Amino acid sequence: MALNGFMEFFQKGQTFRPKKKFSPGTLRHSLHKQAQASLSSGINLRAVVKLPPGEELNDWIAVHVVDFFNRINLIYGTVAEYCTETSCPAMSGGPKFEYLWADGNKYKKPTPLPAPQYVSLLMDWIEAQINNETLFPVSTDVPFPKTFQALCRKILTRLFRVFVHVYIHHFDRIVEIGAEPHVNTCYKHFYYFVREFDLVGTRELEPLVEMTSRICRDPSPAPENPHSAPSQ
Ligand SMILES: [Zn+2]
Repeated sequence: MALNGFMEFFQKGQTFRPKKKFSPGTLRHSLHKQAQASLSSGINLRAVVKLPPGEELNDWIAVHVVDFFNRINLIYGTVAEYCTETSCPAMSGGPKFEYLWADGNKYKKPTPLPAPQYVSLLMDWIEAQINNETLFPVSTDVPFPKTFQALCRKILTRLFRVFVHVYIHHFDRIVEIGAEPHVNTCYKHFYYFVREFDLVGTRELEPLVEMTSRICRDPSPAPENPHSAPSQ
């Protein structure tokens, strides 16, 4: 199913915040469209994450961060009513992993929180970063800050934790509503992207390492034509 179907599918479900959009006519808007158009079924996702020739890496990262934020929001929205302080008193990924929230502001020290509160703070924090035009410039005339990639690393690392929680604690709900293939596609795309540009550390990826090795099996693209996106 093409990404349009994917988005329609999730937009019927519960969403809990407005999507960040790129202004039509901007370079980032067309990159965003290009990144989305390549997500039809059967595509090699390991190949489509590669930086297209002539594009700026920071632009490529910016559009992906915003797209992943939107898509992971939608995914969490489909399980949100099942993710409560009672069902999920901690932001965990199984018994071995628990995430503590710190934002240097209200939560100065890493603090254990129920999962829904943690995810809500996490999404608010990301939304504030991507809507801050000095951090995520809307015009290509405005340069990216020097800290841009470090910030994106932090954003993507935190978004990954939402995948961990959803997969480990709410997978039954995902299966029940038939969303498993869509969530897996989003996960694979995210995984290949962060590995391609080394944006999430391997230690952070550990909670889903087994599942990743099962589902992320797209072959490496042929080296002589690294920017092609062969169909399978
Ligand atoms: Zn939960």
